[in-house]
Amino acid sequence: MRYVEKPTPAAKTSTEGFKVTCDHCGETKTKKRPAKYCSDTCRNRAWKEKQGQKADVPTNI
Ligand SMILES: [Zn+2]
Repeated sequence: MRYVEKPTPAAKTSTEGFKVTCDHCGETKTKKRPAKYCSDTCRNRAWKEKQGQKADVPTNI
């Protein structure tokens, strides 16, 4: 009789989600997936601001 040692199963962690600190408004929220922003709204706003910065090019004279 052979005793096969089974690997200890990883302890079930109560994975409620990932803590996300919004890069835009700074709010901390729990999301199912890691994200940079708390919501699509913030993501869009941050993106628009980024674009606005990029678009801030001097006009040709
Ligand atoms: Zn936010």
